[in-house]
Amino acid sequence: MESQKKLRVFVRSPDLGLPSRSLTLASDLTLRRLKLSFVPQSVLSQTLNLDSLYFSLNGKPLIDSSSLAESGVPGSSTLTLRLRLRGGGGDGGATGAESRDCYLNMYATKKPDKVDPNETRLSKWTTCALSAEPLAPPCVIDRLGNLFNKEPLVEALLHKKLPKEFGHIRGLKDMIPIHLSPIPGAADSETKFQCPITGQEFNGKYGFLAIRGCGHVLSIKALKEVKSSACLVCHKEFLEADKMVVNGSAEEVAVLRERMEEERGRLKERKEKKVGACLSGTKHAIDGILENGKKDGGGKRFKAVDMMPAHATKEVYASIFTSSKKSDFKETFTCRSLPLGRN
Ligand SMILES: [Zn+2]
Repeated sequence: MESQKKLRVFVRSPDLGLPSRSLTLASDLTLRRLKLSFVPQSVLSQTLNLDSLYFSLNGKPLIDSSSLAESGVPGSSTLTLRLRLRGGGGDGGATGAESRDCYLNMYATKKPDKVDPNETRLSKWTTCALSAEPLAPPCVIDRLGNLFNKEPLVEALLHKKLPKEFGHIRGLKDMIPIHLSPIPGAADSETKFQCPITGQEFNGKYGFLAIRGCGHVLSIKALKEVKSSACLVCHKEFLEADKMVVNGSAEEVAVLRERMEEERGRLKERKEKKVGACLSGTKHAIDGILENGKKDGGGKRFKAVDMMPAHATKEVYASIFTSSKKSDFKETFTCRSLPLGRN
């Protein structure tokens, strides 16, 4: 009978580092039973159970519940017991050194030339993106969701020393003041700030939004749970477009960038419209003057001051139309009327 047929197979397990064995097995033995007898109990643990192992024949995975005969295992063949890797795996990429613990140790050991992504993540939430100093009020956020201490950012902007990556920060308008809620007595904590509503720490493990306008920084969770268009701290109303994702993903940053460019485009359009209206107004005036000039028979050159309203001084009125006169007003770092926010 078929079921009594014996097979001689060679079983190896490079993934577990077990000694290879040559076994004579009944062809109706299921692969699961074979696994049970082949793998010593001492190897199994909470993280490594029989389900994390599977047999393969010539690279093809076999089903546990099938017998050797059903799986088409011929005599004198080699079965390989493999470790199923989380997230795919079974791709034959594992080597003899790799028990699960080896994997964990491998990832636990820091590679000196690689930046720990956790550290990068944390530093983005605890330090100024420009100066790398710990975040300390007054803080601002740029229109792409990067966090800064205000002072080094303003200084770099004034001295035109902003690195290219922050080229989108053109003026004070592009720095949104924010209020971070401190964690009381958080000297030893990895972060000093938290969501004032949920208490979630400001360390990159949770999503946060800064509200443009009032500047309060809240966890996404808080804003989701309380469906409100008013700030949960100061109750000031805000629009959807006022929500700025802090240290967002590439996609979220792309959305913020698009919004920034859109707003800049709108502003430019408005300015152009204004200038356009002004120019056409002047043009009519000029036409009027020229008409008059023709009537008078004189070729008089138009000067803005000719249309000066009564009581206006010549210089001031002319200055509306000309930029030739240099202002002797000196801009300084502490000066309130910085021309930076002009755009
Ligand atoms: Zn607020």
